[in-house]
Amino acid sequence: MVKGKSIFTQAVHAGERGVKPDFKPVSTPIYNTVGFLYEDIRGLDAVFGNEREGYVYSRYGNPTNSALEEALSTLEGGETALTFGSGMAAVHASLLAAGVKSGTSLMSAFDVYGATYSICARLFPELGVRVKFVDVTSLEEFAKTLSETRPVAVILETISNPLMKVADIPAITKLAHHIGAKVIVDNTFATPFLFQPLKHSVDFCVHSTTKYIGGHGDVLGGAIITSKENRKTLHEIIKMIGSNLGPTEAWLTLRGLKTLPLRMRQHCLNAMEVARWLENHPRIARVNYPGLSTHPQHDLAEKLFPAGYFGGMISFEIKGAGQKGIFRFMEALELILPATTLGDVYSLVLYPPMSSHRALSKEERARIGISDSLVRLSVGIEEASEIIGDLERALEKSQ
Ligand SMILES: *Cc1c(COP(=O)(O)O)cnc(C)c1O
Repeated sequence: MVKGKSIFTQAVHAGERGVKPDFKPVSTPIYNTVGFLYEDIRGLDAVFGNEREGYVYSRYGNPTNSALEEALSTLEGGETALTFGSGMAAVHASLLAAGVKSGTSLMSAFDVYGATYSICARLFPELGVRVKFVDVTSLEEFAKTLSETRPVAVILETISNPLMKVADIPAITKLAHHIGAKVIVDNTFATPFLFQPLKHSVDFCVHSTTKYIGGHGDVLGGAIITSKENRKTLHEIIKMIGSNLGPTEAWLTLRGLKTLPLRMRQHCLNAMEVARWLENHPRIARVNYPGLSTHPQHDLAEKLFPAGYFGGMISFEIKGAGQKGIFRFMEALELILPATTLGDVYSLVLYPPMSSHRALSKEERARIGISDSLVRLSVGIEEASEIIGDLERALEKSQ
């Protein structure tokens, strides 16, 4: 096609669009393209007009993203999914799609992810939304607030951060649907390995795929798994807002997703061992892990999650440590990394008062149960005894 053309034209077009495949690649290619071509313009027109499925422009959809969306909706037991450039972009879009707008009410769990809390506590109230926070571990309080607030939507997390409280999603969804409120569940901590919200009639299952789904700490992303009907609304939103995940990021996430169950199994088994060890350590005041019988929602966790699996996230308090003691402890760790993320193959520690819950006053933190001596641990997939060895050494060294 470009033979005999100038070097300028050849440099742009040579080698492109030559492949007419009668083969299929085993793994999904990265479709690093913005636009898509059809045999004739009628084809393009039909895709634009929603008469046929296809791709026209990557803000509207991209085949690599579609592969990830299909994989996510399969694992979550949903009809369909849409991917976003970050978990927060997905959280924001889910709230809009659930009908949150000026003049409506929204209910949020108290201890949601920091940026989700900020959307609910600041961004939406400034736009005329009434927002009420509630302790979702008390069904009584939840039901009472629900009938007082009459929200259009409820947002909560399966396992909360950083205290690892477990929400009774089936019961909450029933109550919320009874008054016509949509339910949004951020399933980032649990992952479909532990719990599938859509199987309990939840309307929107949200993920920060940055965490366990991607799993390797190398790619930011978000997703919403939902019904076809809700996806239409979300698609209209993403087409306007443009909070898309790039195809290269979609590909990395899809690659990570393949080992999600293997990693989750190891995360869960490791975390159980670490939690039991911490519980018996004389310098540890308290361990928050749904797998321990001392956890306030241990029975609920046993009911909701597969037998013996309670996730990879733990938080614990070191006796009388305070900020200084915790910093000494974090610095003394060698294997476990002090990085502000979670759900990676690496074991990671974080100090909530410094990072995720920095915007809250000491009193606000105390009210939700976050003391100055609390550390959050994302247990990685390394050898459990070596994670414990690192904790033991650091506890000794930082005394
Ligand atoms: C990290 C996280 C988010 C935000 O996701 P990003 O990908 O960082 O935007 C939302 N919810 C939970 C529970 C998270 O852990």
